Amino acid sequence: MPPLPRVLLSIDYEPWFALTRRYDGLQDPAQRQALDGGFTRDAIDPILEMLSPAQASIYLVGEIAEWYPEVPCKIVAAGHELGLHCQLHRPLVDPLELERDLIASTSWRKDHPVSGYRAPMVGIDEHAYSLLANYGFRYSSSIYAPAGVLLQKGSIWELPVSSLALFGQPGSLQAPRQFSSRLLMGGEVPYGSSFMIGLMPGLVLRILEKCLRDGFSPVIILHPYELVRPTSFTRRIAPDLLAHPLLIPFTLDKSNFLRTLLKNFPVSPLGTYLDEKLHD
Ligand SMILES: [Zn+2]
Repeated sequence: MPPLPRVLLSIDYEPWFALTRRYDGLQDPAQRQALDGGFTRDAIDPILEMLSPAQASIYLVGEIAEWYPEVPCKIVAAGHELGLHCQLHRPLVDPLELERDLIASTSWRKDHPVSGYRAPMVGIDEHAYSLLANYGFRYSSSIYAPAGVLLQKGSIWELPVSSLALFGQPGSLQAPRQFSSRLLMGGEVPYGSSFMIGLMPGLVLRILEKCLRDGFSPVIILHPYELVRPTSFTRRIAPDLLAHPLLIPFTLDKSNFLRTLLKNFPVSPLGTYLDEKLHD
């Protein structure tokens, strides 16, 4: 039996400052942890409570597992799928840097069942798939494409974050397919991005409803700082928002969106859906 349509809900669990890109070059783990200020430790309980009893895919930034080993344990204990977002959040398209990042995450990953990967900024290149296979992954969700697309890239499955194709199915589904002017010019609206959810939550809910009615299972992304507000969030990110107003939709509170979603739609982790789909 084909899997029942549902929303494939994912949370890219990252520190609040990943949003700004201002600290991409900050290498000192102690300074990075101080900047997080306990946010990723304190946000996990309320987020798990918000999700309960539904289950989601939570793609973790690995340095959080080093700072607070209880965070991945709590995610797994609550029945969610634990995945990798990256070890240190910054663009990871260069193969050498991606491999270094994957190696850096092996120490905490060996203690947990991690088989899914979401690239930072949903930005991946074709070469990344063989690297993911080498480091024990089964699937990735790191490009944008219409709901219903499932690609095989060597031994890795790619289950894309959802876009709405306004002019029919896109021609090429080669990576990279990130949120870009090129994607938009091609007539694809990446409604699975929390940017679109922040901008027009009602419309995204309507698109999800139609998708499920058509028998598809769309993939969407949320972030922890969109569900639980970090201390002095607005003040701390104000300079970034002034310089880059396009970041604003990522900073809007989406806890009401999540509540409405969970009240009205069946949801599941991506890995669960993939299991059902592959054994269909
Ligand atoms: Zn991210």
